[in-house]
Amino acid sequence: MTNPASTPDASIKCRVVMRFYEELNDLLRREQKKQDIVCEFFGKRTVKDAIESFGVPHTEVDLILANGRSVGFDYILKDGDRISVYPAFERFFIGGVAMLREKPLRDPRFVVDVHLGKLARNLKLLGFDTDYQNLRDDRELARIAAEEKRVLLTRDRRLLMRRAVDRGMILHSNVPFDQTLEVLNRLYLWDGLRPFSRCLACGGRLVDVPAEGSALDEALRSVPPLVRSWCKEYRMCSQCRKVYWKGSHYDKLGSLIENLLKARSNPLT
Ligand SMILES: [Zn+2]
Repeated sequence: MTNPASTPDASIKCRVVMRFYEELNDLLRREQKKQDIVCEFFGKRTVKDAIESFGVPHTEVDLILANGRSVGFDYILKDGDRISVYPAFERFFIGGVAMLREKPLRDPRFVVDVHLGKLARNLKLLGFDTDYQNLRDDRELARIAAEEKRVLLTRDRRLLMRRAVDRGMILHSNVPFDQTLEVLNRLYLWDGLRPFSRCLACGGRLVDVPAEGSALDEALRSVPPLVRSWCKEYRMCSQCRKVYWKGSHYDKLGSLIENLLKARSNPLT
């Protein structure tokens, strides 16, 4: 994350007061939480670098105020500045102040870190556009997030500090169910659940297979005879052509959604 604009220059020293709000405090050390932090920086420093020096990735930040005025990540700190840092997807409304991104995501797309396969599967089950493979390095994850404008979901702060990554989210829990709750709560996605609309293999959209014709013939070729004997409704992935029917996935999906909705009244984040 070395940035030429922030190369230290010992001749310039500036003293600023920084304060982090809401859940950004979860990322700070105990003595830094919920209070003014007086700090000194040497050389020209961007506010992005200053924020990340506290271990807070810029992707977690949606609004920065310098002396009460909204600024971007490239703002150069000045002596005496008071910097207020607000989290991404903030819950409260901040009227009349420019956010760093145009608007919250309405139809989010995700790319999921290699260690979070079960979270990826849950998000696909719930119908979200989710890209996951278990063999990707950090650079590739960052590239996909930037090029395809996907939200990068990870437990690795350093990954979110990559400059290319504009949208990302740290998962605090290491339990897939709780991680799923975190995503739904923080991105306000409860109204966007579209269960059983995505392929669990590739994430492609599922479409109904017509009750007769060549599409049904194609689908039936990959359906076991026992299933064919009782099942008359199928869905097929529009990308990889995998075929789905009302089997065990439905039960799993049903209990996942039921449990998530129960836990919604007691959100973790
Ligand atoms: Zn598929």
